[in-house]
Amino acid sequence: MEAPAGPAAPSHVRCPNCMRMTDHIQSYRHPFVVFAIVFFSVDGTGQTVFGCPKCVRKRLRENMLVSLLIANVLCWIPIPVIVLQLQASHLDTHPSIPPEYWYLARLPLPNRAARVQEERARRKRLWVILFILAIVIAALVFVMPVLADRR
Ligand SMILES: [Zn+2]
Repeated sequence: MEAPAGPAAPSHVRCPNCMRMTDHIQSYRHPFVVFAIVFFSVDGTGQTVFGCPKCVRKRLRENMLVSLLIANVLCWIPIPVIVLQLQASHLDTHPSIPPEYWYLARLPLPNRAARVQEERARRKRLWVILFILAIVIAALVFVMPVLADRR
């Protein structure tokens, strides 16, 4: 097949996560489910994970853990999809960069301070999610039995 007209495909691009040059960009989209007793939400567009294979697998594993916690009883929706995508990521060993990620070849190298700040923000978001989950679990374990006994 002929390459599409326009700018030539770059042989290497910068992974947007680890900032290393790579000849292989993978992209996976999986459902994002939030279940919090009083409401649940299934994000129809899902969550897209892309980057070099190493970063993609790391993000998929993180998302699987987060999905296990925040989707709890509905985790059967995102978990099998993420497991299959993890397997697909391991099987996909042929270097390739999809055209929608060619722009990564021109991605400037961000300064270290910005990367550290971004990583801190990401970690903070994860802790907020875990904190909310802890409150929900605490409410289930400690408050619900007390309310049930009052009747
Ligand atoms: Zn990477």
